[in-house]
Amino acid sequence: MTANHAEKILEVRGLTKTYGGEAKKGAKQPTPTLDVLKGIDIDIYRGDVVCLIGPSGCGKSTFLRCLNRLEIPTGGSIKFEGIEVDDAHIDAVRQKMGMVFQHFNLFPHLTVKQNLCLAPELLKLKSKEEASKRAEELLARVGLSDKANVFPKSLSGGIARALAMDPDVILFDEPTSALDPEMVGEVLELMKELAHTGITMLVVTHEMGFAREVSNRVIFIDEGRIQEDEPPQELFSNPKHPRLKAFLSRML
Ligand code: ADP
Ligand code: MG
Repeated sequence: MTANHAEKILEVRGLTKTYGGEAKKGAKQPTPTLDVLKGIDIDIYRGDVVCLIGPSGCGKSTFLRCLNRLEIPTGGSIKFEGIEVDDAHIDAVRQKMGMVFQHFNLFPHLTVKQNLCLAPELLKLKSKEEASKRAEELLARVGLSDKANVFPKSLSGGIARALAMDPDVILFDEPTSALDPEMVGEVLELMKELAHTGITMLVVTHEMGFAREVSNRVIFIDEGRIQEDEPPQELFSNPKHPRLKAFLSRML
């Protein structure tokens, strides 16, 4: 079931993503390859609230990141509001497509920018100045420059920032997975209110209660493909795919 069959907002056809296979300088062999997305076809309609579920490593983040070209797809096509999501159109697309990041692996006692600088500095890949400049570029690229100096737990601020562009779609990648437990309810409540405004949302989540209560479609991704795409009542009460059954029995 979709919110409005007339208004298709996203059209994904034959989307594939393979990591690796690069020829490294001096190396005899290219890096090993990993086929993460093996052909994703999906239509998203205006007002849809889609929850994406599936085992860790199945490609949920990769899929979201391909939608706004933070990852370059290996094959297939993505159209957003009729516009091809490619290098030529990506700036226009990103203005109408907000993204709220997963806060996995961020240190709560460091600011967003300090978190971004940490690894390149520790690994001595970059000087302090270079790391700082790169972090600022990254934040600017995703429209979060003004969040550089806040601590990552203020995720509601990140959601507010994503909304400031008045996007037509917001992509959420496990928005609550790394929050302090007392923050989770607040963020889920905020997302529920958002859903009720009619904005289109794609949410990668392990919060099955949220998926059941707030979404109109739940999509199960496994082995590089969409295995089920059903209203939550149907998907949770009558899972068909054996791997979905196994996944749900671990989650619930
Ligand atoms: P999920 O979000 O469902 O947990 P991801 O999309 O993050 O899964 O990752 C899917 C698979 O691709 C994982 O095996 C992960 O290790 C691998 N992967 C993700 N990003 C990269 C990358 N930049 N380079 C190589 N492998 C990657
Ligand atoms: Mg992920």
